[in-house]
Amino acid sequence: MSEKARNIPPHEHCKVCGVSIPVGKGFCSSTCRQKSIAAEKRMKRTQKIYILFFVGIMMVYLLLMLSGFLR
Ligand SMILES: [Zn+2]
Repeated sequence: MSEKARNIPPHEHCKVCGVSIPVGKGFCSSTCRQKSIAAEKRMKRTQKIYILFFVGIMMVYLLLMLSGFLR
């Protein structure tokens, strides 16, 4: 087997912009790191809103059900 084909040193790609970076760094710059953290926060907030929305609908539904049964 030829070793010439596997000449590329081990590397990763920036999770934000895809630039190749040394293994273990995760991001090419602090700008990309911050972008990733901001995106993660935004995603978590969106998930929280979805959960609250769902719980709210369930509560309204339950209240309507209960008031219907009590009448
Ligand atoms: Zn980057």
